[in-house]
Amino acid sequence: MSSPSPLSDRWLLPGCEYPAPLQPVHVPWLQQAGIELALLRLDLLDPRWGGNKAFKLAPQLAEAYRVSAPGLISLGGAHSNHLYALAAAGQHLGLATVGLLRGPPQDTPTISDLQRFGMQLHWLGYGGYRQRHQPDFWAPWQARYPGFLTIEEGGGSLAAAHSCARLVSMIEQQLPHLGWPAVQQLWVAAGTGTTLAGLVLGAAADQQVIGALAVPPDHGVSGHLARLLAAAGQGQRMAQVRLIDASRGGFARIDPPLARFMLSFEQATGTALDPLYTGKLLLALQEAVQAGEIAPRTRIVALHSGGLQGRRALQHRLSQLACA
Ligand SMILES: *Cc1c(COP(=O)(O)O)cnc(C)c1O
Repeated sequence: MSSPSPLSDRWLLPGCEYPAPLQPVHVPWLQQAGIELALLRLDLLDPRWGGNKAFKLAPQLAEAYRVSAPGLISLGGAHSNHLYALAAAGQHLGLATVGLLRGPPQDTPTISDLQRFGMQLHWLGYGGYRQRHQPDFWAPWQARYPGFLTIEEGGGSLAAAHSCARLVSMIEQQLPHLGWPAVQQLWVAAGTGTTLAGLVLGAAADQQVIGALAVPPDHGVSGHLARLLAAAGQGQRMAQVRLIDASRGGFARIDPPLARFMLSFEQATGTALDPLYTGKLLLALQEAVQAGEIAPRTRIVALHSGGLQGRRALQHRLSQLACA
């Protein structure tokens, strides 16, 4: 028998040992509209890789073990949740990790953590980073780090989407605790749309899945989602999806209404949100509720997809904006 893989079941199936808690949310704007909301708290799974990124990375980490790869290489920005989860998981599993970074060298809380987790960093500048979709982009890195698996920016593969589909069973198995017979709508923040695709693949045919775009509508989420669903043989499920622009004019753009919403949500519920994804998701939900777009008695589950590590560098801005 081969020696047991250090890749525990928890990693192959993150959150399956202990599911991320499904917690009801009680705030006046939902009560007034007669709508029930629960949050799937992926952020509580682990301070290092809590969030959706662990689910997206799980297939590639498993593949690294299967082929005995020495490590993994991927790319991202100086606040990247994706690189953060990859570096933390790599350290935990004894796999080397390499991060290719956008822009000039910077010091951010995320970068210090990546270094602490043992990730090897290379700064590509803006021009170098723009080359990432060129066919020969990876060749020099593969020569420099032989045998390393490469993960495209955003980790948007079909395997990653399938891995996220199990989030729906995680939700379903906890509905009895809430006394809910069913859920009509699943809400999730979308950057590439991969996690969203996973929810669609896991959802029942009569459930609606709402993707709150964290990037402007022309950033290709709709196309990426359609391609993933088609590749899974489920192209017709696009009909279950509604995309709404929650980006507030740009990825990572934050404004006083968002900062104030996040603060009041945190005060009312004790749940911290991040300004790029989950804050925008729940603000978009509040806007839809207040515009009367959601029928009374609708039961909604929204994904708390994590991202709190990336919020650290924006904490001061957020406080300023909230008081503006
Ligand atoms: C990356 C990220 C998302 C978006 O995930 P996609 O699969 O790229 O759509 C949502 N929320 C948080 C906190 C993230 O870090």
